[in-house]
Amino acid sequence: MKSFRKELWFETRTRRALINITSKIEECLRESGIKEGLLLCNAMHITASVFINDDESGLHGDFEAWLEKLAPEKPYSQYRHNGAEDNADAHLKRTIMGREVVVAITSGKLDFGPWEQIFYGEFDGKRRKRVLVKIIGE
Ligand code: ZN
Repeated sequence: MKSFRKELWFETRTRRALINITSKIEECLRESGIKEGLLLCNAMHITASVFINDDESGLHGDFEAWLEKLAPEKPYSQYRHNGAEDNADAHLKRTIMGREVVVAITSGKLDFGPWEQIFYGEFDGKRRKRVLVKIIGE
């Protein structure tokens, strides 16, 4: 069995951002040389997500509005976690959007359903953060 590991780094200019990382993940898969197996991709920070959905700007606006309704950033004082930090909302948003994705690899390709794309969801950005890509198979 082959095994491949790589970290991808991101630094967003805004506190929140959604980045389509599908082409970077496909690059990792090519680099690994693995044709049949499983790919895991997870955020290595508890205020960021990796998730699969549609690359459609309307939907991305809907995610932002929905997450702000469920866990509004402000007022910071509404959260017990805040004080030394101001990122309680980011922890909650990350929990809603998920930590990781697992994608099947078939014939050297990500075995996606229609319109599936992989996203990095940043909820407390403006600093360097990373994502782990682990691929196992043959
Ligand atoms: Zn925190």
